[in-house]
Amino acid sequence: MARKMLIDGELNSSAAGEQQYDFDLFVIGAGSGGVRASRTSAAHGAKVAICELPFHPISSEVIGGVGGTCVIRGCVPKKILVYGASFRGEFEDARNFGWELSEQINFNWKKLLHNKTQEIIRLNGIYKRMLTNAGVTMIEGEGKLIDAHVVEVTQPDGSKQQYMARHILIATGSRAQRVKIPGQELAITSDEALSLEELPKRVVILGGGYIAVEFASIWRGMGVTVDLFYRKELPLRGFDDEMRAAVARNLEGRGIKLHPGTNLSELSRTEDGIRVLTDHGEEFIADVVLFATGRSPNTKRLNLEAVGVEVDKTGAIKVDEYSQTTIPSIWAVGDVTNRMNLTPVALMEGTCFSKTVFGGQPTKPDYRDIPCAVFCVPPLSVVGLSEQQALEQAKSDILVYTSSFTPMKNTISGRQEKTIMKIVVDSETERVLGASMCGPDAPEIMQGIAVAIKCGATKAQFDSTVGIHPSAAEEFVTMRTLTRRLTAGDKPKTNL
Ligand code: NDP
Repeated sequence: MARKMLIDGELNSSAAGEQQYDFDLFVIGAGSGGVRASRTSAAHGAKVAICELPFHPISSEVIGGVGGTCVIRGCVPKKILVYGASFRGEFEDARNFGWELSEQINFNWKKLLHNKTQEIIRLNGIYKRMLTNAGVTMIEGEGKLIDAHVVEVTQPDGSKQQYMARHILIATGSRAQRVKIPGQELAITSDEALSLEELPKRVVILGGGYIAVEFASIWRGMGVTVDLFYRKELPLRGFDDEMRAAVARNLEGRGIKLHPGTNLSELSRTEDGIRVLTDHGEEFIADVVLFATGRSPNTKRLNLEAVGVEVDKTGAIKVDEYSQTTIPSIWAVGDVTNRMNLTPVALMEGTCFSKTVFGGQPTKPDYRDIPCAVFCVPPLSVVGLSEQQALEQAKSDILVYTSSFTPMKNTISGRQEKTIMKIVVDSETERVLGASMCGPDAPEIMQGIAVAIKCGATKAQFDSTVGIHPSAAEEFVTMRTLTRRLTAGDKPKTNL
């Protein structure tokens, strides 16, 4: 993609002899990436506008809402439901700690739903205020490109308004994709799953990714019967195989019925519920069927083709290392570019964009050693390379250290669930290439480990760090015994 890097030396949009612009930057989409880019660009002195659709807090019909997927229908409401669902395990575990709970413990879904919605409305307000306080002009409506410097916004009442901007940033995110099988319209996606009016009794989930295992844990924690179907032998393709196996064990241990190597072939409505047919010829009846089968970039209604902004075969906007598209004045960040579809990554891309374009400091996002977490119960969290990736990429032998133990809390509660941890080390440089953990608090622990790995910590430096006792986290600095040494061509092991 050879093209001119259009970076502003000065921001005076009305400079003599220049095109008259309404804004230095017009952002389409007020999700994580768009909001961050707007605020940081404004802080660099740019005159910024951002457009976003209004949202209805309950209905999942309307997409949009300042805050975007993460705040309105993603990470935040999901985590609130994970918290809600986790109490079931806590109640079970409490008994051996002396708590005498009555046999009947009731869960009020509508109360949690209401409180969750109130929190989302509060956060939506905070995001709007943050933009206003940063001096960003907010425009309600759906934006589309007219040319390299013009955005047209269709407002909720149908009226249209055009704005000229020196730079345009597309941050329209992604949306859940559906599987094309007969009866697919009977299934819901995570958008609706976060706001169901009634808590279902029986749920079928298709998919083995983040959303599938997270919702399996949420619903199971709320007492729902959950059947989880996925195409591979283990869920969470792309994660360390031993961790995937641990997640599968834990899901099963918590009462979720797993159906590996199985796809759905048809859905139909019956009096008793939705009839689900699998590709193995089995039949199930469910109140809710969730498709958690990936997300695709939100690019269809942006008029990209007419303006010359290229997309790849998945519909994602093609960008260079600085998030610049094939049109020099148009940029894109976040899920719409399908690089690494995580909120903190969109935030990083938004910050790098504003530094590059308005801060006089061309900055590429750094995709190395990005930690992430899957909020199933208990959670999985990883940073750096998995054992499999290390074997593929490393030039020298790989040293694998593992720990599998019963967390102290479970020794009393009696819960049959182990925590597992792994560190993968380069034998020559002794640098820790990756770490993973499946167990309580894994995401909280992994954030700190990520700092160490980002700084290039060696195994010896992990070993010389004093532990916090008694904690699960201290295992990361006390794994002294080598579990295995692997040479290129060896197969990764799954012993834990
Ligand atoms: P994922 O890409 O994580 O997983 C998609 C799953 O759907 C895979 O198991 C895939 O199977 C399966 N699948 C895809 N197509 C089909 C099909 N035609 N038939 C049957 N199964 C199919 O997507 P999610 O929807 O779970 O999440 C979307 C993205 O959102 C994630 O990738 C992540 O970037 C982000 N996210 C992050 C979270 C976090 O950080 N905690 C939480 C939730 C979402 P297979 O493996 O066989 O291809």
